Amino acid sequence: MDIPRIFNITESTHRIHNPFTPEKLATLGAALRLEKGTRVLDLGSGSGEMLCTWARDYGVIGAGIDMSQLFTDQARLRAEELGVADQVKFIHGDAAGCVSNEKAGVAACLGATWIGGGVSGTIELLAQSLRPGGIILIGEPYWRQLPPTEDVAKGCLAGSISDFLLLPELLRVFGHLGYDVVELVLADQDSWDRYEAAKWLTMRRWLEANPDDELAKEVRAQLTSEPVRYAAYTREYLGWGAFALMLQW
Ligand code: SAH
Repeated sequence: MDIPRIFNITESTHRIHNPFTPEKLATLGAALRLEKGTRVLDLGSGSGEMLCTWARDYGVIGAGIDMSQLFTDQARLRAEELGVADQVKFIHGDAAGCVSNEKAGVAACLGATWIGGGVSGTIELLAQSLRPGGIILIGEPYWRQLPPTEDVAKGCLAGSISDFLLLPELLRVFGHLGYDVVELVLADQDSWDRYEAAKWLTMRRWLEANPDDELAKEVRAQLTSEPVRYAAYTREYLGWGAFALMLQW
């Protein structure tokens, strides 16, 4: 079981597989006012940077589950490196339907809400692992500006304009689902650059090392087209944010 290999190539050197910088991840941890010993569950935990740094900086404990073997291995190494391997564990597997017996103070899914079939399904899934009064954390794209045409949405690698909402509309949806939005941290164009542009140097070096690989042609094509596509579309139109939610009562 694994994700498509192309992602394990293009994001092999990413610690954060989202348009967040280490600073924004730390800002998010501080914004949540995490207390020592808080249990964090992370579905689609990638290379584990959120859990590992929050374990180091705020003393959280918890677990992450991710379908990429490479990213999961990297997360375990990172936990060792930061001296938090006794606080956080990483499981390689499919997080769809994953419910934890040990209820979490923070249940998160950042940039992988297809795991629950979309935002509302993922919130429902995370809620099943949450202790009363806990925080659900959702990382999700939104439109910074509405694409004028469906072609522009496709340029952002969205299926269609209707895949995402404008920020106020996304926040309204959280309310309609019965949640208060209690915090948010948003990506910006510079943090998007760190996510997207970092792939290009990774691809270039991978191509030099693997010229005869079966994916070399695809990676070559992406390296050629991605900088312009990104600058024309994603960088202008797509936002991304992490949203902290608490059940309304
Ligand atoms: N939250 C992480 C990773 C986001 S990228 C971060 O912010 O860095 C999306 C992640 O979801 C990838 O690591 C991918 O391997 C993982 N993923 C995709 N489908 C999955 C599934 N069904 N179950 C668990 N993880 C999945």
